[in-house]
Amino acid sequence: MTQDPVSDLITREQTRQREKIGLIPSENNTSPEVSSVLSSCLSNKYSEGYPGRRYYEGNQIIDEIEVLAQDRIKKLFGVPYVNVQPYSGSPANLAIYMALMQPGDILMGLKLVAGGHLTHGHPKVTASGSFYQSVQYGVGEDAKVDFEALQVLAKKHRPKVIVVGNTAYPFLMEFDKFRKIADAVGAWLVADISHVTGLVISGDHPSPVSDADVIMSTTHKTFRGPRGAMIMVTNRGLERDADLGKKIDSAIIPGLQGGPHNATTAAIAMAAAEASRPEFKKYGHQIRKNANALTQALQVAGLKLVGDGTQTHLMVIDLTPFGPGLGLQVAYALDVAGIYANRNTVPNEPFSPFYPSGLRVGTPLVTTRGMKEAEMEQIGVWIGRVVELVRDKQLPKVTQARQQFVKEFRAWADEHRQLQKIKQEVKALTSGFPLFRW
Ligand SMILES: *Cc1c(COP(=O)(O)O)cnc(C)c1O
Repeated sequence: MTQDPVSDLITREQTRQREKIGLIPSENNTSPEVSSVLSSCLSNKYSEGYPGRRYYEGNQIIDEIEVLAQDRIKKLFGVPYVNVQPYSGSPANLAIYMALMQPGDILMGLKLVAGGHLTHGHPKVTASGSFYQSVQYGVGEDAKVDFEALQVLAKKHRPKVIVVGNTAYPFLMEFDKFRKIADAVGAWLVADISHVTGLVISGDHPSPVSDADVIMSTTHKTFRGPRGAMIMVTNRGLERDADLGKKIDSAIIPGLQGGPHNATTAAIAMAAAEASRPEFKKYGHQIRKNANALTQALQVAGLKLVGDGTQTHLMVIDLTPFGPGLGLQVAYALDVAGIYANRNTVPNEPFSPFYPSGLRVGTPLVTTRGMKEAEMEQIGVWIGRVVELVRDKQLPKVTQARQQFVKEFRAWADEHRQLQKIKQEVKALTSGFPLFRW
């Protein structure tokens, strides 16, 4: 029997993941247990509604699974309410806004170029930025949230919701400072901890539970579970509105979604069990140690980091000292060399979001594979060598010339002997590290 091309493509993707080094800070590898739950029969079942009140028959066991997932998450974070049904982080944030705001109300979130997320009110093109009046705050010269400016903005606009959360921010989130500002203007405080959930669990990042009213997290980043999301309401949130949990449930279904993805729900329960073990705390600590080691190695290689380092799992390499708009070239050449990361804007980006001047790197995935400080040192050396190779490949200033430049650049990088050599070295290293070692 011939194999379907899909199987073949999956095998190739598996090889790619195994042979290359993944530094995208939002990606991770699930345990074999979580993966096998995801491919189970649970995805065959429809179960619109919530445990004990479904619109379909036959959900006796699905009910038990969802309650188990809820109980484990509540215990893990110390919260009284959770909804584990959001399909992913983006609809989860929208559900929170639907529960807390009316269309046209004012929403405050961190600007995308300062490290925020699209769903935090990015103007015009997003749902959050068009259904609500979005007022965005930014970062100061030191790349940290400018709380003075935030306070002035909040007092002027009196937002209904303030979101604290980010995707490319190397500092700890200061939930207590956000709380004070939210209190001063009567706003709800929503903490979107998608990137750092695993670090919150391991104690390597402050928990938002005593400051935020509502907490959102994706489940596939440092939490190391399936693609999905969860919405938690804290005691503080329930004190302000005892019906807040019910409002969020209704915003998910019938508000935004139909049947929950039951295999995902079960995989969240499985990931929560893994996250409550002592090994997971060690995992979080090692993510931080690796981030510090990689920071040091990058600095030794002569690279500048936004904020001069990191307090989390990620760093943003600022490539502007080599000339603006080098992100695409570095990211592409690195991938040819077997290391994949993503290009990213830097604060006060001098070029554009599509041709940005930074590179975002993080350690959750390599830490899952069992890599430690010594490997981070080696990765820093490789990144330094690749930047050295492409630094004179500057984007043309004339916009029309860029597409042609990118085409020629890619052809150049694809054939580059030094990049091929690094690729072989990377392959030799990764052959000693399985996709999941915990
Ligand atoms: C990843 C992320 C999201 C969106 O999650 P998706 O699952 O990609 O929709 C939202 N907020 C933050 C802070 C994130 O990092």
